[in-house]
Amino acid sequence: MISYLNRMTKTLMCAGLIATGAACQQSGQAQVAEETETVYDTVAPDITKWMQQPAILVFSKTNGWRHNEGIAGADKFFVELSRDRGYGIFTTVNAAVFNADDLARFEVIVFNNTTGDALSPEQEQAFQTWLEAGGSWIGLHGSGDNTHADWEWYSQVVIGPTFTGHPLTPHFNTVRVETLNAGHPIMASAPQVWEHDEEWYFFDSRPSEYGLLPLAGIHEPDFNPEGADIENLANWAMGDTPAEHPVIWVGCPGEGRSFYSALGHSDLAYDVEVYRQILNDAFDWVLKTSDPDGAGCPSAS
Ligand SMILES: [Zn+2]
Repeated sequence: MISYLNRMTKTLMCAGLIATGAACQQSGQAQVAEETETVYDTVAPDITKWMQQPAILVFSKTNGWRHNEGIAGADKFFVELSRDRGYGIFTTVNAAVFNADDLARFEVIVFNNTTGDALSPEQEQAFQTWLEAGGSWIGLHGSGDNTHADWEWYSQVVIGPTFTGHPLTPHFNTVRVETLNAGHPIMASAPQVWEHDEEWYFFDSRPSEYGLLPLAGIHEPDFNPEGADIENLANWAMGDTPAEHPVIWVGCPGEGRSFYSALGHSDLAYDVEVYRQILNDAFDWVLKTSDPDGAGCPSAS
């Protein structure tokens, strides 16, 4: 029990909770988290009037654990995507961009490992209004951790299941990921099964319990993160089948669309061709350039 508690403490530190001086091993390099506190932004960033339209907002404020590598990888991915598709792009950690006038300039918003209580209540409402009115949202990895509980609508409606932890020994594990909904536009080009090396998130429940539609899950029996300490893993186990451990899911809040992926702790995820294709197809789906009638929405399934 002691080792379990120690592991959970380290895990939560790496996920973005209390993090003073906590070391999080990754790829042989120690990452030391800084103490974080809730700081709201009040002055919106200057966004050039020359920004190409339509445009993507990539938001990576962290009032919790900061995934420097994963944030850099996703920033690069979306800069390249915007270039390839002729979109404008604005990346920021300034949450004051969440006001009606500025949000109206963006077609897609990406939460790039946003952690902690990053938005003020007014900024949270501006985002909810924007998304429910038909906005397109992509959430990555830490954006679905358990540091968003203060924002009930986001936690319950957009993310759904509550993050409970991730393995640390070893931190990264290669497992089979399986497509759960091959008919969905986001998974149409994905293989039925592929391998992915990742810091795998565990959750307390499943997205279907929140009216969200799972698109991919992992084979838990493929990995044994605690080695001989396997009894502790039982505290996290979600189930032996990919349907019991989803890692990618979508929703349709109001007139909007949402896509969440627990993948992407490291920048290396964005070098994986299968994952790049899924993100590209997710972009098309949340934008309604594919599936304009919403056949891929949970309510239509
Ligand atoms: Zn992570």
